[in-house]
Parts: sequence; C-alpha cells; structure tokens
Amino acid sequence: MMIGDMIVSSLEFPEKISLVIFTGGCILRCPYCHNPELIDNGKPVELPEVFNKIESSMDFIDSVVITGGEALIQYDDVKKILEYSKKQGLETKLDTNGCFPDKLSELIDLLDYVALDIKAPFNKYEKIIGSDIGDKVKECMEICTDNGIYLECRTTYVPFLMDPEDITEIAKSITTDIYTIQQFRDKAVLDKRLQGTPVPSRDELKEIGEAVKPFLKKVRIKTAEFGNEFID
Ligand code: SF4
Repeated sequence: MMIGDMIVSSLEFPEKISLVIFTGGCILRCPYCHNPELIDNGKPVELPEVFNKIESSMDFIDSVVITGGEALIQYDDVKKILEYSKKQGLETKLDTNGCFPDKLSELIDLLDYVALDIKAPFNKYEKIIGSDIGDKVKECMEICTDNGIYLECRTTYVPFLMDPEDITEIAKSITTDIYTIQQFRDKAVLDKRLQGTPVPSRDELKEIGEAVKPFLKKVRIKTAEFGNEFID
C-alpha cells in the first residue's frame, strides 16, 4: 500500500495513545488541503511492515488511527490493518472525507471512532470544494449514527471559501457526538491562491462555535495557538 508515515501520537484519539498511519492518495482536491504532498504520493510499504510496526508499538499504544489522504481508496489494505488491530485488542479510528459510504459501511464493525469531514453544507460542496459529494458525506454520517459508532464531524473554517452562516447551516443539518471547527492554516495549501489569505483567529472561531452550540451535543474549536478547546 501507499503511505506517508506511521507515527505514535496522543493527539488523534482522545485519551489514547495511537499509532497513526497516514495513507497516500485522495480523490478530492480541496483548495485548502494541508497534506498536498500526500494526495498524489506516498511511499510503498508491504502490509507485514505495517503489522510489524503495530506489534513493535504495542507497549505504548492502545489504538490505531488511519488517516490520509483518503484511506478508503486503499480499502482492502485498510480492512486488513483494522482486522489485525482488532485482533491485537486495539481500538480503531478512521478519518475519512466521506466519499465512500459503501466502503465505510463494510468496515463499520471494525471501527470504534470515525472522524468525518463536513467540508461544506451538504448542498454547497460543489461551490466550496469543487466536488459535488454532499449526499455521499451525509450517507456516511448516517451509517455511523445508525450503527452507534462514536462520530466526530469536523469542518475546516476557511474564510475565503465560506462564511459563519455556512457553519450554522452545517450544524443544523448534522447529528454527531462532537463537532470540531478547525482553523484554516495558510502555509501548506494545494491552491496557492489561499496562501497569505487571512487565517481565522481563535476569537472568531470561538464566536462561531458559541453560535452553533445550541444545535449540537458537544462543540470544540481547534487552533494552532491553543489546540482543542471545548465550547461550554
Ligand atoms: S483535505 Fe483531505 S479530502 Fe481534501 S484533498 Fe486533502 S486529503 Fe483529500
């Protein structure tokens, strides 16, 4: 399979230490993609190498996180990694952009936690990221909620592409255990026109988070300066 890297981290799965596997490749081209080097590339590794990495990390980790790129384009390998992880007694998390509801549905019994990108209101995907996949993303959300999987929906707030009303529209249309509003960063981005555009401040995100809190169970904002902060 193609991967970017495998690292141990305490940031990707709350209250757990994870082996995080960054898979290569993605079918989207979000203008603000902060992993542009991963969406067409990655380095080839054989699955036994991934299994060995999991096994040699067992003293430190209690979970495996598969992120991208978009992991589900390498469905067969991802399935084998999840099966292997479960056999080791590890919890599992998948980050996905929501393009592959059928594949997500096939894997759902192997997952404890799904982080699903909600990149735009479902009917505005084409306008905001240039791909009309809102219905598929919605389907992924429903697969998670119907199966009782812990679900995090998350949106990167990019002022150049959206406004606070879009976040309100998203908040009113999702069902999720937690909603994360992530700060757009202008450093490594796919569309160079976004370089140097204003980065939303923590206060701006806080204000948006407070506005959408009444519609959701749990809301947090994520900024480079302050990390994760819950909105009361
Ligand atoms: S932001 Fe995520 S979904 Fe979008 S192109 Fe980058 S890796 Fe793919």
